[in-house]
Amino acid sequence: MTAVAVIDRAAFARNVRRLVERAAPAEVMLAIKADAYGHGMLDLAPVALAAGARSLAVLEIPAALALREAGIDCRLFAWLHGTGSDFAAAIAAGIDLGVSAPWQLDAIASAASTARPARVHLKIDTGLRRNGALPEQWPALVRQARELAETGRIVIDGIWSHLADASVEADDAAIAVFEAAIATAEALGVSPPLRHLAASSAGWREPRARFDLVRFGIAAYGVSPFDDRSGLDLGLEAVMTLRTTVMDAAAPSGRSWIAAGYADGVPAAAQGAEVSIDGHRCAVEAVEVDRTLVVSPPSVEPGAVVTVFGEPAAGVPSAEDWARWSRTIGDEILTGVPARVPRSAVG
Ligand SMILES: *Cc1c(COP(=O)(O)O)cnc(C)c1O
Repeated sequence: MTAVAVIDRAAFARNVRRLVERAAPAEVMLAIKADAYGHGMLDLAPVALAAGARSLAVLEIPAALALREAGIDCRLFAWLHGTGSDFAAAIAAGIDLGVSAPWQLDAIASAASTARPARVHLKIDTGLRRNGALPEQWPALVRQARELAETGRIVIDGIWSHLADASVEADDAAIAVFEAAIATAEALGVSPPLRHLAASSAGWREPRARFDLVRFGIAAYGVSPFDDRSGLDLGLEAVMTLRTTVMDAAAPSGRSWIAAGYADGVPAAAQGAEVSIDGHRCAVEAVEVDRTLVVSPPSVEPGAVVTVFGEPAAGVPSAEDWARWSRTIGDEILTGVPARVPRSAVG
């Protein structure tokens, strides 16, 4: 074994169930973008739905199409479009499309027909400045959508936005902008059934941000969206465990090489990092492309199993620990395990 990422489907299912309970009566759309944050989108999509998620979110149309081809028949939401996006394929596959700009509405309506209308969710920018109509552009976008809906080529199913999750105060301000946008749309005769704003952070802590649906992502993978509370604190479980073994290559005295390096997802820039070998925490001394030097535990044998991160309940470093050691967020640690590291699903 060089490195393997063990994916605990049962832990993922328990996390999703916990989020579904937390969000109720709002429903849960589970974000499985970036190949389910590195865990394997096609493997986890059915698990999320069985655990109570009602719908799934990806960034781009091709990922949504791949889910459809794999037989996933729930509501699928994709919102990151370019001028080359294949809206016709998305509409044919019944993908819900997030819409930020007039050109997108036009392109989507042109690709749709009255027999096969496109389902769209209109995006208001509530302060993140990562696409979405600015408040001053919003009435025009809503009017354009209403006119296209009247032709029968589109159905307006949602109004949505995304929070910066910078602070409770920033979230509150964004909620106010969102509510004003909903009121503006209503005044223009547009009242879609799904209003959605929150991801993991506000979805967890702010009931007022939940509206009809919460788009949970990182929390479902066992990583807390908060700096001051771990996933474990929130009752969430690690889903990915990155494992390798002790190598038999000669190492300096009192040190061991383990068979995973930065090309396997071991963060190279971490300060004060540790791995777990036979229940011992072992300090990391150097990360190379395909191997890492660690302080040996007592009486180590080549082939001994090394846990780089995962299973925090068992005293093993978590992805959150590695994020802290690397001055980044847990998302980056999980998605940083490259696709060439085999995923081994259990549970
Ligand atoms: C990534 C993403 C989510 C999920 O965010 P988390 O913070 O991981 O829960 C939800 N909505 C959008 C638009 C996203 O890009």
